[in-house]
Amino acid sequence: MRRPLVAGNWKMHGTRASVAELIKGLHALALPEGVEVAVFPPSLYINNVLAGLEGKSIAVGAQNCAAEPAQGALTGEVASSQLADAGCTLVLVGHSERRQILGESDELLVRKFAAAQASGLTPVLCIGETLEQREAGQTIEVVNRQLGSVMDVLGVEVFARAVVAYEPVWAIGTGLTATPEQAQEVHAAIRAQLDAEDAEVARGVRILYGGSVKAANAVELFGMPDIDGGLIGGASLNADEFGAICRAAGN
Ligand code: PEP
Repeated sequence: MRRPLVAGNWKMHGTRASVAELIKGLHALALPEGVEVAVFPPSLYINNVLAGLEGKSIAVGAQNCAAEPAQGALTGEVASSQLADAGCTLVLVGHSERRQILGESDELLVRKFAAAQASGLTPVLCIGETLEQREAGQTIEVVNRQLGSVMDVLGVEVFARAVVAYEPVWAIGTGLTATPEQAQEVHAAIRAQLDAEDAEVARGVRILYGGSVKAANAVELFGMPDIDGGLIGGASLNADEFGAICRAAGN
């Protein structure tokens, strides 16, 4: 039985004041038993969030890490070992905004994924197709390639200590959501790709859906057999909405 995970990606949002407000709201939430909850604040605020959520069972992750685990001369980057030292337990790898806007390649993301695991962090590997790719019928090919780039280099077994997030690029921040059936089809294909290499890893890995998830559509999405929770962007900036999505995962 896979434990659902609901993860809030705050992206580049927040001020000291708004982060303090959000922490207060998260603290007050009644979270469901059996659902793992995590938030990914901008790295500047990770310490505030860790301190503010002490005693609450919400994990804290980072939105990115350097491609090497160790500290060193790399201006502007944060090493996975530093994130672990701060108290993070997870890190996003390959969010589409980093792939598309910052040009992060599959090859670079393999190194970030490995760096995360070398520091004891759980990587959340984000994969998904653009609208053009979906319209060209290339969705499964694209996610297979993105997942395969990690599997081919690091082996399937690394997914025993990782999470996959399927996020169709056309659904991120647009208000468009994949239907539960569209999402399920891709989640099943991702699991089948892992299953072809290792059935136990495939059975155990959590595959999250991300792309305009809200309380109003979460129950239907999370009801699909291969959807094990969600990666939530915009809606995670509202503690009450985020709490409702977490409860949907507990249904
Ligand atoms: C995301 O940033 O990962 C995301 C899914 O964003 P949103 O929920 O706002 O579409």
